[in-house]
Amino acid sequence: SRDGIEFVSSYEHATFPIMCSQYHPEKSMFEWTGTLIENCLDAGASKIGVTVVEGGFGSMEISDNGCGINEEDIPLLCARFATSKLRSIADLSAMGTYGFRGEALAAVSHCATITVTSRTASASTGWRCTFNRGMPSSPVEHVHRGVGTTLVVSSLFGGDSVRREALGSSRHEYLLCATVVSAYSLHNTHCAFTVCSSKSLRGVHVAAGLEATGAYQDRSVSGGDSSTPHSRTVMSVFRQRVAVSLGRGGEEASIPVEEVVVDKESARGLGVDPDILEALPRNLSVTIRYPTPSSVTPRSTCRRKAVFVNHRLVQWPGLERAVLDALSPAIPPKSKPVYLYVSVSVDPRDIDPNAHPTKARVIVVGDRAVQSLVASVVGDRVASVEDATLAVDAS
Ligand code: ADP
Ligand code: MG
Repeated sequence: SRDGIEFVSSYEHATFPIMCSQYHPEKSMFEWTGTLIENCLDAGASKIGVTVVEGGFGSMEISDNGCGINEEDIPLLCARFATSKLRSIADLSAMGTYGFRGEALAAVSHCATITVTSRTASASTGWRCTFNRGMPSSPVEHVHRGVGTTLVVSSLFGGDSVRREALGSSRHEYLLCATVVSAYSLHNTHCAFTVCSSKSLRGVHVAAGLEATGAYQDRSVSGGDSSTPHSRTVMSVFRQRVAVSLGRGGEEASIPVEEVVVDKESARGLGVDPDILEALPRNLSVTIRYPTPSSVTPRSTCRRKAVFVNHRLVQWPGLERAVLDALSPAIPPKSKPVYLYVSVSVDPRDIDPNAHPTKARVIVVGDRAVQSLVASVVGDRVASVEDATLAVDAS
């Protein structure tokens, strides 16, 4: 790091998972999408745009209006284990940023060419440089640009045709990327997102699937410019983004949203089993959003699932199952709500986000207790809504 902190022996045991992911054989652009979005969010961006060319095999551009990158950091930008996000070894046990391994750009630069254009607020001009194999591979150019960063990833796998064959169609790959952007957009309602598929970065944008509609543009940025209507609540932005990601579009799409929020304190008042309470991680708080069970149509499937742990998009099948099972008594047989959003927040000391090469899984202390708690509060909510409906019907 530029502050001269060296990761010495204490961090070396982490090398193996890092190496696994660096040469992860199945990497397609979709698998990098979340990591690159996380870098933009770490940089404090309020606007993030993703353009996918030929399903990422052509290239992928991701740009943000975050803090930008200092020109003096160019030599280290794509170097392995170089990160600007840790100041001391102690920071590793309580991470406040998505990034901490300094590994993503290094890994991408080994599988592809990265062209970065960036400017910080204190710099009078921006810079552009191309990176390969962890190092700058072109002279630094000075360019005009606003504060923020644009990263173009091209020549994925050196254009290897076997790898290309192994990936899905361009449209399929694009939709995978769009799904990741959509999940982050549900969780980060303060930030505007656009995602589009393009035939070329300079050509006409051929938007497909999750388009750059109003839901993802400036208007959805809270605290944006003064012409922005500030009446948009988190829930209205959320609802609109769900609609867009389900392909329903439209400003006024009325996607119903049920929300259940529970933390350790409120769980105590709900008469939750003391053993479960005892096993919960510290400072637990869970937000669950799903469509009202009465709106679920027969045989609908859960097309959008987004589970976040301390703001990281993760896979936690047990938690998804717990919510879906708790909802099942209130919905038609063999049906699932069309979307499910769960955000779990715990004391950083009670998770290990470094458990999987791509951070797709995290270890959460007391994960089974969290599942039981969620199943019990969602189950109670469903039962009380059903009771209320029966009471109305009876009167
Ligand atoms: P990490 O996120 O773990 O630090 P990365 O390889 O993802 O590692 O990124 C390396 C460094 O590059 C980051 O620590 C950050 O300083 C810088 N960086 C990457 N993307 C951006 C971005 N969009 N805006 C600002 N800085 C960035
Ligand atoms: Mg990162």
